[in-house]
Amino acid sequence: MPDLEPAKIKLIMELRRQGVTSPAVLMAIERTPRELFLPETMRDRAYENTALPIGQGQTISQPYIVGFMSQELKLNKRLVVLEIGTGSGYQAAVLARLCRRVYTIERHRSLLQSAEAIFRELGLHTISTRLGDGYKGWPEQAPFQRIIVTAAAPEPPPLLLEQLAIGGFMLIPIGPTWDTQNIVRITRRESGYDTQELLPVRFVPMVPGIAVAGLPARPE
Ligand code: SAH
Repeated sequence: MPDLEPAKIKLIMELRRQGVTSPAVLMAIERTPRELFLPETMRDRAYENTALPIGQGQTISQPYIVGFMSQELKLNKRLVVLEIGTGSGYQAAVLARLCRRVYTIERHRSLLQSAEAIFRELGLHTISTRLGDGYKGWPEQAPFQRIIVTAAAPEPPPLLLEQLAIGGFMLIPIGPTWDTQNIVRITRRESGYDTQELLPVRFVPMVPGIAVAGLPARPE
């Protein structure tokens, strides 16, 4: 395993140039070993600023997108975040260093189990995980001041909108799976919701239901 430290420092400087300037967010990224969240064959590429495959047809997000969304969540140690799409667990691990607690939901059991093992290894005890369908949210813990969805949906899931606290907001990539999506911020007001487009992106799709083990991932 090569020394990844120089690549990590280079990545942090690149993220800063790209607009991720929050010292807390940069420090959270610096302190989270992205290589642990990758399959062994991919570890030497851990600090490339790209999305990488993690199995089950899924990807770990590009570090820039993780930095961008973490910064846009405007977190502090009093806030709790609901994440949809645990995937490798990397985004949740970064968020755990920025807020009080992270609730994260994943539909693939194997991905969730691997993420849970890394959270234990890193001593990240403020992350609660659930195998489930993110379209349903986590009603027992609602309402949430912050929700982050790391898979693209054609439109905002109604139950997630319902689980937003008034004054709270959700970051979610919205758009068709075959084309450009936009990360939008949806803020809940006393009456209704405000939507702002933040950044064009490409995420894997948000798929309803729990994945059935043994079935191949649908070709995307
Ligand atoms: N945040 C992740 C990115 C994962 S990619 C990371 O840092 O690695 C998106 C993830 O969303 C995939 O793991 C996919 O299985 C999951 N996903 C898609 N639809 C979902 C749903 N309805 N509920 C929960 N997870 C879902």
